[in-house]
Amino acid sequence: MPLPKVLVVEDEAAQREVLTYNLEAEGYAVTQADNGEEALLLVEEETPDLIVLDWMLPNVSGIEVCRRLKSRNDTRSVPIIMLSARSEEVDMVRGLETGADDYMVKPYSVAELMARVRNQLRRSRPSALGAVLEWEDITLDPETHRVHRGGKILKLGPTEFRLLTTFMEKPGRVWSREVLLDRVWGRDIYVDTRTVDVHIGRLRKALCAHGGGDPLRTVRGAGYALG
Ligand code: CA
Repeated sequence: MPLPKVLVVEDEAAQREVLTYNLEAEGYAVTQADNGEEALLLVEEETPDLIVLDWMLPNVSGIEVCRRLKSRNDTRSVPIIMLSARSEEVDMVRGLETGADDYMVKPYSVAELMARVRNQLRRSRPSALGAVLEWEDITLDPETHRVHRGGKILKLGPTEFRLLTTFMEKPGRVWSREVLLDRVWGRDIYVDTRTVDVHIGRLRKALCAHGGGDPLRTVRGAGYALG
């Protein structure tokens, strides 16, 4: 799997650099923005796995960025950790009301922030941190790239493996073809949405290779889900 992508939104250059340095040292791919407007544009280009978002920003404030991202279906599940100065602490309640997943008050401990980033990613992108995913009789190991069903090994192509990883991270969630394209193929690559159907077909075949029912659900007009 590609490295977890973290977007750092902070207008103070020194703090932005410290955050970027530490996040990269943890093994994340980091992109940076120094204002709210740029942050929204960057999310539009490529959905990050997590956002560290400063409260006070030029142009569009952190709280407004948070509100907008949490009101959209395609970005709602991206964890947001908000940063604020102590004087803004009271306002943090509002921050959490707009859907921020966690917050820290400046000056914060970088080690503590890294722990919270890991926590959020463990919940939202467990495979990116190497955790074995399990769903019913299927297990997927992101480190060895091995997939088993009922104890038997399954043969999956790389695209099918990434698709299954996405499904197993959020069983029951319905994924649209567009979101799957973005997540599994990446936004820079031009692929027709019908390609998704082709690979879903291959994944289904691989999952049922040793018997067992088809665990994937086609949701008419919406996309696909596991279970
Ligand atoms: Ca600021």
